[in-house]
Amino acid sequence: MVSSVPVAPCPDCGQKIELWPLLKVGEELVCPHCDADLEVVSIDPVELDWAYLEPATDEDDWDDDWDDDDWDDDEDE
Ligand SMILES: [Zn+2]
Repeated sequence: MVSSVPVAPCPDCGQKIELWPLLKVGEELVCPHCDADLEVVSIDPVELDWAYLEPATDEDDWDDDWDDDDWDDDEDE
C-alpha cells in the first residue's frame, strides 16, 4: 500500500497536517492540533491557509476615503 498522503504545515501552529488524497482547492478542514479553520489554497504543493482569511488588501481605513479623487497622488520615494 502506497502511503502518499499529502501533508502540509498548519499556517497557525506549524504542525504537519495529514490530508486526504482527493483534496481540492477550496476544501475546508480543521487543524487537528490547534483547531484552526483552514482551507486548501494550493494542491501542488499542498498549501493551507486560514479559512476566514479575507482577500489581501491594504487594510488601512479603505472605507472612508473611497470617493475622494486623491488616491493616486502623493507618491514620492
Ligand atoms: Zn494548527
